[in-house]
Amino acid sequence: KYGQLMAQLGEMVFQEQHPQVQVNDQDTTPKLMAEAHPLRILIVEDNIVNQVLATKLLEKLGYKPDKAANGLEAVHALGLKHYDLILMDVQMPEMDGLEATRQIRKGLPKERQPYIIAMTANALKGDREVCLKAGMNDYVSKPIVFEEIRNSIKRVK
Ligand code: MN
Repeated sequence: KYGQLMAQLGEMVFQEQHPQVQVNDQDTTPKLMAEAHPLRILIVEDNIVNQVLATKLLEKLGYKPDKAANGLEAVHALGLKHYDLILMDVQMPEMDGLEATRQIRKGLPKERQPYIIAMTANALKGDREVCLKAGMNDYVSKPIVFEEIRNSIKRVK
C-alpha cells in the first residue's frame, strides 16, 4: 500500500516537472457496432446451423438478436414487438421469407416497418430481384460471411 502511494506521488511529481507531456487518454479500443448503431434484430431461419451461425456473427458485433424458425413466426413476432432489422431466410416451411415479407409490408404501419435483409443459398441470377420485389431491402448469400453481413447492416437506416 505504502509503495503504491509513493509510486503515485512520484508520478504526480514527474508530471508536474514535465508539464509538456500530454497524456493521450483517447480511447483507442474499437467500439462495438451495436453501441454506435443499436438495432433490434430478428433472425428468421429454419435451419438450426444457419440460425446459430447468424446469431454468432451478430453477437460478435454486440447485438442480441431474437430468433424465429419460419415466416409465420416472424409475422407473429412483428405483431408483438418492433424490430429495426430482420435477417430473413427465403426457403422455410409454413411460410417462406418472400410471403412473410409481403405480409409484413402490407400489414404494418410505416413507422413499424423493419429493414429486411434476405439470406439465401440460391446463387441464381434474378434471385436478388425476386427478394427486392417482395419488399426486401438487401440480400446476402449463405453461408453468410462476417464482412458481408457487417457491411449490409451498416446500410440499415
Ligand atoms: Mn431455409
